[in-house]
Amino acid sequence: MTSLRTYRTVLVFTLTARLFTGSAIVMGRAPQGLPTLMLPENQVTQVSDHVFAIIGFPNIGIVVGNRATLVVDTGLGPRNGAIAAREAQKLSRGSVLYLTTTHYHPEHAAGEGGFPPNTLLVRTIEQQKELEQRGMQFVEMFSSRSAQMKELLAGVKFRAPDITFDREITLDLGGVTARLFWMGQAHTKGDELIDVEPDSTLISGDVVQNKLVPNLPDDNASLKSWVEVLSKLRPTSWQHIVPDHSAPGDSSLIEQNYQFFSQLEARILELKRQGKSADEAAQILLAEFKAKYPDWSNLNAIPNVVKHVYSENA
Ligand SMILES: [Zn+2]
Repeated sequence: MTSLRTYRTVLVFTLTARLFTGSAIVMGRAPQGLPTLMLPENQVTQVSDHVFAIIGFPNIGIVVGNRATLVVDTGLGPRNGAIAAREAQKLSRGSVLYLTTTHYHPEHAAGEGGFPPNTLLVRTIEQQKELEQRGMQFVEMFSSRSAQMKELLAGVKFRAPDITFDREITLDLGGVTARLFWMGQAHTKGDELIDVEPDSTLISGDVVQNKLVPNLPDDNASLKSWVEVLSKLRPTSWQHIVPDHSAPGDSSLIEQNYQFFSQLEARILELKRQGKSADEAAQILLAEFKAKYPDWSNLNAIPNVVKHVYSENA
């Protein structure tokens, strides 16, 4: 699993990038000047009538209905999970609490132990399978990165979900519905998106970001399939899109991502057909995309994408 190692670079990049993504986002900083892994408290942003977000690592979505509240993603480890749950409870009007996760990686799913025991955990079957296969491997990998990550993830165990679904499920939260859906492999095999229909708000996980080069951490990610997912999302428009690792935006994010990802994929395959090595293609495309997309945050992740696509199409 050597390709897992690239995930660290991409993650650090994402964290660093987030500090500069615009005035709308102010991330907390640890005393050493590093971005904090802890979710901020008492700093919930309202996105639309029923949708709120904690902007942090990662952005946490909170959908509030009269009967139930849905939290999207947990934060890294149970201490962050408890913060997300507390912030959700402050906003809640009903007694039922749902939790879902956009994918199985630790900052999205490993905080579930911090939620109250009667929380209803919902996720896609594909994501659940993946979590069972690779969840602990990612917890160990993250834990090996820093003492703080290790401490936040100490003793993490994943419990069985209460509800799983194949392609989509609609939760009636009382006065607002949330449609949880899966369209195929992208950043992981089990990426989930959340459409809060009456609010025209999409909580998009890693699938739609705001000017971030695709993060392909291992062979459960696929750029080819990711482009197909984006092309299926293109006809629908949402007034608000809340990604997990970048600033919220509107429907233009989908088109932006589709153009960048599909152009990058096409150029990689073209250079591969011309007989260029992955390293040669990486250098060419790094220069090309830096010129064409100067305001994207983590363009230095392009060589990882090139390597991934070369092996995806070997
Ligand atoms: Zn991830």
